Amino acid sequence: MIVVMHPDSSDGHVGHIVELLHRGGADGFVVPGRKQKTVEVLGQTAGLDRSMLANMPMVERILDEGDPILAAGREPGDSTFEVPLGNGATIGGNKIGIIAGPCSVESLDQILETARGVKEAGAVALRGGAFKPRTSPYTFQGHGEHGLEMLARAREETGLAIVTEVMRCDHVELVAQYADVLQVGSRNMHHTHLLAAVGEQNKPVLLKRGWGATLQEFLLAAEYIMLQGNGNVILCERGIRTYETYVRNTLALAVVPEIKRVSRLPIIVDPSHGTGRAHLVTPMSYAAIACGADGLIIEVHNNPRSAWTDASQALDLEQFRTLAGGAGAFAQVCHRTL
Ligand code: PEP
Ligand code: MN
Repeated sequence: MIVVMHPDSSDGHVGHIVELLHRGGADGFVVPGRKQKTVEVLGQTAGLDRSMLANMPMVERILDEGDPILAAGREPGDSTFEVPLGNGATIGGNKIGIIAGPCSVESLDQILETARGVKEAGAVALRGGAFKPRTSPYTFQGHGEHGLEMLARAREETGLAIVTEVMRCDHVELVAQYADVLQVGSRNMHHTHLLAAVGEQNKPVLLKRGWGATLQEFLLAAEYIMLQGNGNVILCERGIRTYETYVRNTLALAVVPEIKRVSRLPIIVDPSHGTGRAHLVTPMSYAAIACGADGLIIEVHNNPRSAWTDASQALDLEQFRTLAGGAGAFAQVCHRTL
């Protein structure tokens, strides 16, 4: 059982609830929230009078166990949160935002040429990994801070917002100095300390779904960030692992309208990691827009054949222009703009 306190409740009100729980033979664990505190009821609940608790001053509601989504939850009539990217663009409003760029930042020429190309085609933000989460420790791990500096140069030149991944708690402040949006990757979706650390920053967070995570686990990971006071969370569906082998991951697009139903957080789709194959990226981008995605994140490289990481899923600039050019029609059908 979880007691959700009213946003205006004082420590005294919360203390009184904990006292009542003790008298009923249970314990209370107080979780300080961004908007409101909650009290998890621990131990024996048989001796508790639920309706008495529900009627105590400043108790908003009583929830049963079952992993509630509080900070990100959607009530009927609520609109999606509109997350500012720092350069005037937003994700979550009527306009669909496209984030594009290479898997990894390789060189200044590579990132600048790619940034200019994606900007011209209509992207609102530049992606690029400076710290790379690689499956093998024997492969390129990213240029680190030097990669962040190159991204900052690309922002200076193009005005694109910078989206880049942070993997370690002790790197959060460094990455936040350069990035406009902090990306938490699929491998780290369950890293609750990292989630809390990015939640303490005043930069938006792009949270990618763990490839083995359920929708509920995905939303609860977002709650970890929001509880620290950072409500600017953008969810990203990037495919889940199944038995299928013709794609790198299975892009679970049904999550998009389902998240729209239960959560106020915007959700974007990554068809690059979601398929692993360049020729599937454009059709799946259009499918993502058709099912209600608030944006896309696409891997684009000025010369995909020479890409150091994820070459098989990278679009070249011409392919990206074609994708972006065709996306408007799908957006229009969904009463959105690009
Ligand atoms: C990425 O976007 O660079 C990345 C590593 O993706 P994911 O975390 O989804 O695997
Ligand atoms: Mn990649």
